[in-house]
Amino acid sequence: MTDPSAVFSATPSVETLLTHEGRSPDDQFGFVNTPVYRGSTVLFKTLDDIETQQQRYLYGRAGNPTTESVETVVNALEGGFKTKLVPSGLAAITIALLACLKTGDEVLISDSAYEPGRVFADGFLTQMGISARYYDPRIGAGIAELMQPNTKAVLAESPGSLTFEIQDIPAIAAAAHTHGARLIVDNSWASPLYHQPLKLGADIVVHAGTKMFVGHSDALAGTITTTEEAWADVARVRALLGFFTSGDDAYLVGRGLKTLAIRMAAHQQRALEIATWLEQQSEVVEVIHPALPSHPDHALWKRDFTGSGSLFAFVLAPAPRASVAAFVDNMRLFSMGYSWGGYESLCLPVKPGKARTITPWTHEGNLFRVHIGLEGVDDLKRDLAEGFARYAQAR
Ligand SMILES: *Cc1c(COP(=O)(O)O)cnc(C)c1O
Repeated sequence: MTDPSAVFSATPSVETLLTHEGRSPDDQFGFVNTPVYRGSTVLFKTLDDIETQQQRYLYGRAGNPTTESVETVVNALEGGFKTKLVPSGLAAITIALLACLKTGDEVLISDSAYEPGRVFADGFLTQMGISARYYDPRIGAGIAELMQPNTKAVLAESPGSLTFEIQDIPAIAAAAHTHGARLIVDNSWASPLYHQPLKLGADIVVHAGTKMFVGHSDALAGTITTTEEAWADVARVRALLGFFTSGDDAYLVGRGLKTLAIRMAAHQQRALEIATWLEQQSEVVEVIHPALPSHPDHALWKRDFTGSGSLFAFVLAPAPRASVAAFVDNMRLFSMGYSWGGYESLCLPVKPGKARTITPWTHEGNLFRVHIGLEGVDDLKRDLAEGFARYAQAR
């Protein structure tokens, strides 16, 4: 394993970690990349070997060199104790929750959290006798007042990936720990390049690796990174449930990670340029991007983040459904689709009100979530400007 800290005297930069960590050419006949390992059966040579179980690999489900190379990189980026690669971002969330909760416990979930995670809590955890309550993503230290003796986990997503509230992770972590609960943070938006929740007190960080890590819309994956204290529970639940990520998918995550730093920088810069431009367009009543000074949580973003992602939202002046259809049905470059993080730009009309229970969405007008891809910025602006003209005309 190339150890950058052995090569460079100072702490290696993120770019160096991304390009050198997790590789082991000496184990691969000199080939630069760890190849795709496919395999269930791992062979033992002797009775001694099978009885002592001391080999590095025992059975495919636990992982292989391809999955481990990805785990090493993500773990170094997040500053975790250990990291596990899992089949999807949703699997990362469900494993993390099950690792912290048992029958009789309660979980507090941000009202801005990724909807399928809420559905899991409401529909599955509840069946197990675990209750889920929702909190205002802007609650900060006030979450202490919601904590009960049976509250064992808090699930945060900062910023929320539809509505972009930034959460006060240090304050929420402190309150959770005072009351004996663990804090899980979904860090998909910023990636560990721009936000490191473990350093701010979180216990578990999850990623939809599907998004920025893979970066090309061609694979699903998730990661779970934990502190030393939380690791055993996560590792146990992951193993008990039998989750495994194939070497093929792991390879695509590892390949994406090599260019994560330059992709994040490009997405950030393009998204900010378009967000700033959107603020000047007459049909746009609000741009919701934490890195803009107009965002209500901008100060918190500045305190805890070192950059911003590709994803943000904007609100267009109130207009009927026909306007929304005229806008999104005729785009040339922006497409509609779930997910984000790829090279291609996406624009999705969203109704966040449906998925919220305690902080109603009161903004008037139509909300759109955009992922800014790697097309030419001027081409993207033209696509949006033409769309705004159709939107206004159909009103
Ligand atoms: C997409 C997404 C997930 C789920 O990831 P999948 O790989 O699609 O399961 C979780 N959290 C956030 C913020 C996401 O955007």
